[in-house]
Amino acid sequence: MDKKISSVRGMHDYLPEELKLWTKVENILKEILNSYCYEEIRLPILEKTNIFKRAIGNVTDVVQKEMYSFNDRKGNSLTLRPEGTVGCVRAIIENNLFRKKKQKFWYLGPMFRYERPQKGRHRQFYQLGVEVFGLKSENIDLEIILLINRIWKNLGIHLHVKLEINSIGSRSDRLEYQKSLLFFLEKNKKFLDEDSKKRLYTNPFRILDSKNPNLQKILKNAPLLNNYINCSAINHFNNLCNMMNLYGIKYVHNTNLVRGLDYYNNTVFEWKTNQIGTQNTICAGGRYDSLVEELGGNKTSAIGFAIGIERLILLIKSLKIMSSKEREIDVYIIFIGESSKIQAIKLSEDIRSIYPKLRVFVNFISCNLSKKFKHAVESLAKIAILIGTDEIKKSCFLLKDLKNKQEYFLKKNELILKIKQFF
Ligand code: ATP
Ligand code: MG
Repeated sequence: MDKKISSVRGMHDYLPEELKLWTKVENILKEILNSYCYEEIRLPILEKTNIFKRAIGNVTDVVQKEMYSFNDRKGNSLTLRPEGTVGCVRAIIENNLFRKKKQKFWYLGPMFRYERPQKGRHRQFYQLGVEVFGLKSENIDLEIILLINRIWKNLGIHLHVKLEINSIGSRSDRLEYQKSLLFFLEKNKKFLDEDSKKRLYTNPFRILDSKNPNLQKILKNAPLLNNYINCSAINHFNNLCNMMNLYGIKYVHNTNLVRGLDYYNNTVFEWKTNQIGTQNTICAGGRYDSLVEELGGNKTSAIGFAIGIERLILLIKSLKIMSSKEREIDVYIIFIGESSKIQAIKLSEDIRSIYPKLRVFVNFISCNLSKKFKHAVESLAKIAILIGTDEIKKSCFLLKDLKNKQEYFLKKNELILKIKQFF
């Protein structure tokens, strides 16, 4: 016998019931992005593999272990995007968008990473990403933080998320720092867990992010990146912190925050929550002032962030602050017998033409009348319209007010007018 069919591990279906909450959340996000004059951009899900290796960094977890890469029929290596920044940078270079003074973009869509699936971690997951180009000063860092804070506020989760921020300086600052960090880690090699030992000579910064509490104790004595970063990065960070203080933005300066992708410099940040388990970062981002040039564009400052939508939804659900139970149908049409079907469909089309915003549902399921009415009530429809043989004979329709339990026997033009009173 055939095995039961199933989706790919770590990739799941997003069913209508779940998507009601998603749509609400997405609408709030889009409204806020619009109010800051950020514009939508839609990018391919596949990019050439090389671009990710160049941009994200060959020794990062994403490139080494997490990418879905395969050869197409001509033998070209392609990759399902693990994140959106790289594709967005490619697009703005290719389409010359700086020249058109377009600077602020957002996108929403699926990303793919071959990771161990668990709560808040999937192999296909959605990100809302934002990327801003051509703005060098800390003003834009502040605007981004204000924008994200507004998102949390409007979603009603601001009391349950915490901003951690750091400056990681330039790449050459980090190379200097890496030497001292490596020296310290080698001295303490016996305390490193297996994971950290593997990272020692590939990506020692990632060890600082370790969740192992014993290791974290040792790391308290590790050299600090902050002591290695250049003056201009320090100024940038201090100015940003001063402005955040001025605007009353709460944050924690986490000197161990380094981020997993190579392209970041100066400001990096994450928003965490303690409501959704161990995968607790719901938003992360930072500056990447050299990536555009590295991928072949002109020297252009840049900053961006991404929100993990599944984790955001987990948080909203855990706080029970947004209900997804809402009216799904406005007008519920029931017909009895084949002969009334044509009338029912015609009526539904007329209502949709006259009142385009109304959600009109025609029940095609063959079951008895009381079941149909029960479904109408459960759907929270405001009115039901019944078309039976009697109604056809008299060229009338029976309208039921499902809330007040009143009934009206109406001619078609009266019915159309009456509907208006309910909405
Ligand atoms: P993490 O440390 O959780 O793996 P990351 O540093 O790899 O995060 P980013 O590349 O910065 O994550 O992605 C931004 C956000 O996207 C994360 O903060 C998280 O909310 C979400 N995210 C990343 N990977 C996954 C995943 N596999 N499943 C669900 N959400 C994810
Ligand atoms: Mg990751």
